[in-house]
Amino acid sequence: MKAQKVILKRRPAGKVREGDLQMQQAQLAALTATQVRVKQDLMSLDPTMFTWIGNNPDNYFPPIAIGSVLPSHGIATVTESNNKALPIGTRVAGMFGWVSHANHEMAGLTPIPKQVSNEAALTRYSLPAITAWFGLKQLVNAKPGDCLVVSAAGGSVGSMVGQIAKLKGLKVIGITGNQVKKKWLLEQCNFDCVIDYRKDNLQQKLEQYCSNGIDVYFDNVGGFITDSVSKFMAPHSQIVLCGLISDYLKKGDDSTLSQLPLLRLLNKRIKLHSFIMMDHLADFPELLDELNQFVGFKELFSNTHIIEGLEGAPLALNHFIDGSNQGKLCVKLID
Ligand code: NAP
Repeated sequence: MKAQKVILKRRPAGKVREGDLQMQQAQLAALTATQVRVKQDLMSLDPTMFTWIGNNPDNYFPPIAIGSVLPSHGIATVTESNNKALPIGTRVAGMFGWVSHANHEMAGLTPIPKQVSNEAALTRYSLPAITAWFGLKQLVNAKPGDCLVVSAAGGSVGSMVGQIAKLKGLKVIGITGNQVKKKWLLEQCNFDCVIDYRKDNLQQKLEQYCSNGIDVYFDNVGGFITDSVSKFMAPHSQIVLCGLISDYLKKGDDSTLSQLPLLRLLNKRIKLHSFIMMDHLADFPELLDELNQFVGFKELFSNTHIIEGLEGAPLALNHFIDGSNQGKLCVKLID
């Protein structure tokens, strides 16, 4: 059987351009005894993919080789199986990569409960929610009433962070560069205030909304936003360093990479918690259980931004950079 796949043809210089990633056909071999064949239905795109196709030797994940298929998480349906545990028609989550179909080891697959949609399986029950929960778990002594600021607040991780923090009783200030995301965060996600860093005066708004200082900053972007926020941090406050999207297109020795003045951290005795979820993959089921127990019957809202067809995936990555993704960016694979 023939499958479609997308390989890295050349490393992008900045945003992804036509020809950096290339669609190809692949012939699938016969199944081995430990494999099932799957058709991928919904594939997750993630900002960190820029770091995998880039060329920064310091990256936490080695840059993927030219000619390789891009790795990714996704939801698929079993189309061929010799195993009763995963019969044909079972929906499964796994690391399928940028492919339409695959022969996959059964050991790496997680069946999706019937009541969970494919979209929810990539948001509320997956990396974005687990990342938010794990990041907030790092905090020492955050208490109701504390002021939390989250950047890229309208994204899949940021919006979860704010909603979980609200359930913990914190005052939540979101930062986004998009009016539609701002409205959604205020009206649906229960954020206390949202700052539009493109339209508002960021410093002025931070001063206004965080007059007693910021107790927790959950950082998804770095750059000038982090620099501004760090000026308003309270003594003994905490920074959760989750992502630095403003740096993902830069080279490892770029002098404009995000910086946090150590003197500011020292003077205010700020605690910095940095983490990469890839180190904690084995803990995902436990982390998700903890989150579900904490949330109980309350709802966590998420938006998905669907791209139709694998061929649209390469250029769609650029949505992360210009902020035009309206929630979790996913690719729906069409037959
Ligand atoms: P996302 O927030 O849905 O998309 C990224 C958003 O970042 C864009 O939509 C844009 O939103 C904002 N942005 C892009 N460039 C920016 C810049 N230069 N300055 C300010 N804002 C900028 O993506 P996500 O999947 O939820 O991920 C959010 C962050 O978490 C990323 O940095 C990602 O790498 C990180 N992450 C880390 C881990 C981990 O293990 N540590 C796991 C998952 C995700 P606006 O419209 O608001 O500008």
